[in-house]
Amino acid sequence: MNDILKVSGLQRSFTQGGVTIEVLRGVDLSVRTGEIVALLGPSGSGKSTLLQAVGLLEGGFDGSIRIGGEEAAQLDNDGRTRLRRDALGFVYQFHHLLPDFNAIENVVLPQVIRDVDMGTARARAESLLGSLGLGHRLEHRPSQLSGGEQQRVAVARALANRPALVLADEPTGNLDERTADIVLAEFLRLVREEGSAALVATHNERLAEKMDRVVRLHEGVLEDGSGHL
Ligand code: ADP
Ligand code: MG
Repeated sequence: MNDILKVSGLQRSFTQGGVTIEVLRGVDLSVRTGEIVALLGPSGSGKSTLLQAVGLLEGGFDGSIRIGGEEAAQLDNDGRTRLRRDALGFVYQFHHLLPDFNAIENVVLPQVIRDVDMGTARARAESLLGSLGLGHRLEHRPSQLSGGEQQRVAVARALANRPALVLADEPTGNLDERTADIVLAEFLRLVREEGSAALVATHNERLAEKMDRVVRLHEGVLEDGSGHL
């Protein structure tokens, strides 16, 4: 079982005001254990829709999503919640940190939810944040951190539970170019160190080139980086 993710024939359409648009028209995608894949596509091409499906965050899809060999469609709500918690980590464009908690607490929380004891969770959070250059910002709340620092906290939070697969939706999209480059490089280094796989949506070709493989969403299907279907 070398594929942490295997998506087959994924379809998703939206109907609004009597008009139906087919956003995903049969997406096939495999991500191998430890592989970092860039999901490229212009704005509106369906990257977020695909990540939401793979993240088991939304229903309404046809097709198969297997995560670590488990077929999502065969799981009930509890099963999907468990799989999401045990196997997945998320990084969003806007970090979605909890504003009333400081940096270390934001990284501790997802671990405590999984019954990791407080001492272990804090040690893990400190180690991750330290590795991201935030050792001196542990007690700062999100509002006291720069955009790049907040996004690093979000990266640490996503990796806190050692997910087999990290899903990142434009993870540096709200940062200036220089900061985006630095945070992305740190994100990729940490994902590699941790041995996680990642699926990273971006519309930035330059950032995509830093990943192991590039796939492109085009008219609802995926092409690999060479442009072949
Ligand atoms: P991307 O992330 O690549 O910019 P999205 O996945 O956000 O693209 O959107 C793809 C298309 O699906 C867009 O045309 C968008 O308007 C449409 N869409 C996404 N979510 C919804 C929704 N909940 N209801 C209706 N249309 C949606
Ligand atoms: Mg999007």
